[in-house]
Amino acid sequence: MTDKLLPCPFCGNDTPTIVRRAGAFGVKCTCAGKRFLHTYGKTEEEAIASWNMRPEGIPPVQQLAGQS
Ligand SMILES: [Zn+2]
Repeated sequence: MTDKLLPCPFCGNDTPTIVRRAGAFGVKCTCAGKRFLHTYGKTEEEAIASWNMRPEGIPPVQQLAGQS
């Protein structure tokens, strides 16, 4: 059973992609065209947990968009 992926903290994309590499799993989002955001783990669960972990003090996407 895997945890649910949270939306991308930068663009709000709620369907990040889970990628599988040799010996590792990752989660990525294609923010702003060529920009890729990755998190990795040895297992899919680890990668998802890493993706879902957010540093404190980072406001939600909506809040960022509303600031000038
Ligand atoms: Zn994104």
